[in-house]
Amino acid sequence: MEVYLDNSATTRQYDEVTDKMALVMKEAYGNPSSLHRKGLDAEKHIKESRKDLACMIGADSNEIFFTSCGTESDNTVLFGTAQAKRRSGKRIITTKIEHPAILEPAKKLEEMGFEIVYLDVDKNCQINLKQLRDSLTEDTMLISVMAVNNETGAILPIKEIAQIKDEFNQRNGSKVWLHTDAVQALGKIDCNVKGAFKGVDFISASAHKIHGPKGMGFIYARKGLNIKPLILGGGQESHFRSGTENVPGIVGFGLAGKLAQENFEKRIRNMSMAREYLLKGITSQLDDVLINTPQENSCPSVVNMSFLGTRGEVILHSLEQEGIYVSTGSACSSNKNKKGSHVLEAMGLSFDEIEGAIRFSFSEFNTIQEMDYTIDKVVKAVTRFRKLGDFTRRKR
Ligand code: PLP
Repeated sequence: MEVYLDNSATTRQYDEVTDKMALVMKEAYGNPSSLHRKGLDAEKHIKESRKDLACMIGADSNEIFFTSCGTESDNTVLFGTAQAKRRSGKRIITTKIEHPAILEPAKKLEEMGFEIVYLDVDKNCQINLKQLRDSLTEDTMLISVMAVNNETGAILPIKEIAQIKDEFNQRNGSKVWLHTDAVQALGKIDCNVKGAFKGVDFISASAHKIHGPKGMGFIYARKGLNIKPLILGGGQESHFRSGTENVPGIVGFGLAGKLAQENFEKRIRNMSMAREYLLKGITSQLDDVLINTPQENSCPSVVNMSFLGTRGEVILHSLEQEGIYVSTGSACSSNKNKKGSHVLEAMGLSFDEIEGAIRFSFSEFNTIQEMDYTIDKVVKAVTRFRKLGDFTRRKR
């Protein structure tokens, strides 16, 4: 049996998306900037997708700008804000648990002389709103806080943060902007800019987390706000992001967004069911399991747990042998830095607790049969490893 439980790293593309992209590649291959019919045809496809994605978050079509991925969206918002506002401010407030797509540009900006404040989180992966209020100063340009953490699934209080930002701006006549990295949130929680995300100025999103193609992202930028583009050239995307548009990718993103939105309730129900079933099955059979995903305010797509006395990486490879695909943390951090999870560290977990962490992440495709199979294999792998650990400890 093959069980894919690494949906926070990426998702399997919907078949409908693949089919539509193939059709566009074959038929609508014109350059959207061309003035002839082939160009107009490609442009029409882009327009339709922009509308579908705007609709997904309650925005206007002209507030959506396509990028090459979530990472580019995050980089554009940070560098673009710093460039646009460098005369009036130098402070950016973010958190210790952001994705490297935020933390790395933040580090770069720090080297360039900007001031970055990294908000702490507690053991529930939540920021302290008082610390945010206290960090807001006259020279603050931007607050950037992710909507859902990719490692734990914790949902951050974006609505409350937006209220704090708006109150601060009103009181001080300031123009602090709010950005949220919604790469793990889109299609899984309410991201409506007139509802749960009211007051948010910029949103980053990525297609491959919602069964769309890899290498596609967008930025929502609230009407009237001007940040400097990262990529200059032919002036596509209203001069916000130059480069000939990835028409098949945009079409795939639009359709994935539309399907995710249409089946929202059903998808969430399925993910929640899989998560609860797996969690119950594992914790009823194994002791010393630490649940790193907060019980309240977490996205149904993720559960992160530490199997004490084991190493997550060994469990991951043991499960892989059985056809089960999971992650030890975020895919990006496990590739490059072997330091371990900065998110779990910020939550105050010990080295051993971080070492034993596994992230299971779900999609609408997961079934109860898959969960039964996974529970059985996890229990066996952890029990085996713990016995082996005891044995090696005794030998030493
Ligand atoms: N932000 C978050 C929270 C993510 O989880 C990811 C990817 O895992 C990214 C940004 C980067 O998105 P992309 O893979 O589209 O560059």
